[in-house]
Amino acid sequence: MKTDIQIAQEAKLHPIVKVAKSLGVGEDELELFGKYKAKISDEYLEKISGNPDGKLILVTAINPTPAGEGKTTTSVGLGQAFGRLGKKAVIALREPSLGPCFGVKGGAAGGGYAQVVPMEDLNLHFTGDFHAITSANNLLAALLDNHIQQGNELGIDTRQVVWKRCLDMNDRVLRNVVVGLGAKTDGTVREDHFVITVASEIMAVLCLARNLKDLKERLGKMVVAYNYQGEPVTAADLKAVGAMAALLRDAMKPNLVQTLEHTPALVHGGPFANIAHGCNSIRATKAALKMADYVVTEAGFGADLGAEKFFDIKCRIGGLKPDAVVLVATIRALKYNGGVLKEELHKENLEALKAGIVNLEKHMENLQKYGVPVIVTLNSFITDTEGEVAYVKQFCESRNCAFALSEVWEKGGEGGTELAGVVLDTLEKQESHFKVLYEDTLSLEEKIEKVAEEIYGAEGVNYSAQAKAQLKRLEKLGFGNLPVCMAKTQYSLSDNPDLLGRPRHFRIDIREAYVSAGAGFVVVLTGAVMTMPGLPKKPAAFSIDVDEEGAITGLF
Ligand code: ADP
Ligand code: MG
Repeated sequence: MKTDIQIAQEAKLHPIVKVAKSLGVGEDELELFGKYKAKISDEYLEKISGNPDGKLILVTAINPTPAGEGKTTTSVGLGQAFGRLGKKAVIALREPSLGPCFGVKGGAAGGGYAQVVPMEDLNLHFTGDFHAITSANNLLAALLDNHIQQGNELGIDTRQVVWKRCLDMNDRVLRNVVVGLGAKTDGTVREDHFVITVASEIMAVLCLARNLKDLKERLGKMVVAYNYQGEPVTAADLKAVGAMAALLRDAMKPNLVQTLEHTPALVHGGPFANIAHGCNSIRATKAALKMADYVVTEAGFGADLGAEKFFDIKCRIGGLKPDAVVLVATIRALKYNGGVLKEELHKENLEALKAGIVNLEKHMENLQKYGVPVIVTLNSFITDTEGEVAYVKQFCESRNCAFALSEVWEKGGEGGTELAGVVLDTLEKQESHFKVLYEDTLSLEEKIEKVAEEIYGAEGVNYSAQAKAQLKRLEKLGFGNLPVCMAKTQYSLSDNPDLLGRPRHFRIDIREAYVSAGAGFVVVLTGAVMTMPGLPKKPAAFSIDVDEEGAITGLF
């Protein structure tokens, strides 16, 4: 079997100018990065702003196994399948982070015959957006420490600095550092921290900003520290906004690439799915809606986190109205949820499948709460048996839920035409009555409880004394009207990764809460969250190479 990178390198790419032309976008409306990548110009985005919107289709998944269940693969394959059916479709995805490429996870541009290309570029530096975000983030950190050094007029309490430096690398030694060691001229000594670039609030801000004006307003609101009176100090207080926005100007423009079958793909932004909302940029999604009749987009993690935040944060802030949701399930994840060990997942096991299907059932029920039509798709693996597939199909049909088998990983767009057909049929027959789960006016605690009880299926919420005090303080500071961004394990509907299937009779423990005022949400942590990953004993970096001709190998 060929690896993803082999398949990607064998593909015959079209010049990006030709891909753009298929959407009616002229060469003058692109900013080219070589032959196969381009940014979409602001003038073009302005020009199409009056176009009617296409249909917005979200791809999400049940609670996964640690290997990932194929949301990106399905998104890409569905886009390719629309192309095969003669439909004008655009895929809107996140940009992969550099860090995980060298760790365990590998790239993130789909898989098999459903990939976005050029995959080496996508996974390595792409068009430099993440470098711009890293620079803007670290400029703010430098201005903050310089402000303290130059007399600290704002009275910043160096023990209450919340802004962290960042780097797009898995580098655990930078999690906790001391800066400012040395002489008096070398700065003030304080404890500092690094996060991976995708965990920077600037990444979330970039993805939620409508335009440069909105970007600047959001950057200005970001809280960097608290002063000795306990009041927030913002990026605007540090006069950092103009220079940060200048660094981010080009990073705000959506990137155009293509799938293996030349379907246009806007790949833009990539916030973490735990301490941020885990979706591509609002600008790219909106642009795609103006450019195509069908837009396929993905949200990170399982539907309890990804789809919830897509709806309650991204759609709320961006005024987006999704038309359908594709819920990806795999036989292996269903069996995993039914208690089968990772090593045994490839063997037929109908009993485990029946035990684990309650996970799918709960996600189907959850998605219906948002009023958007749901289509379940089974991402087919070669180890699936006929009996297993038939069981899942019958389960969905008995609940009046649209179902389609997807073979896009193995067959590309051709393997997705059944799914695309069911999606088109659903869009035609079922109207979306999208609504968010909770109103802005609820208190932060009420919002947390609503998500925990209605989406996770918890009996209630326990707050640590710290979280209670923090939520109270955030309400007092005027952040009570913001949506909540829940950080929780992706492996369980609960906050305990070992509770698989459809856990019942549990409570959610809230440990900590803080505001991302620029992004516009309150982050709620249920457990420890890793914002700077480390590398494993045998990092993927060991097998990555480039030959004399410049061909890159081992990215997967
Ligand atoms: P997600 O977006 O849900 O994290 P991805 O689409 O990135 O998942 O897929 C995770 C990994 O699983 C990728 O390496 C991909 O190539 C692989 N994969 C996805 N679907 C299949 C499939 N049907 N058969 C085999 N491997 C698959
Ligand atoms: Mg993905």
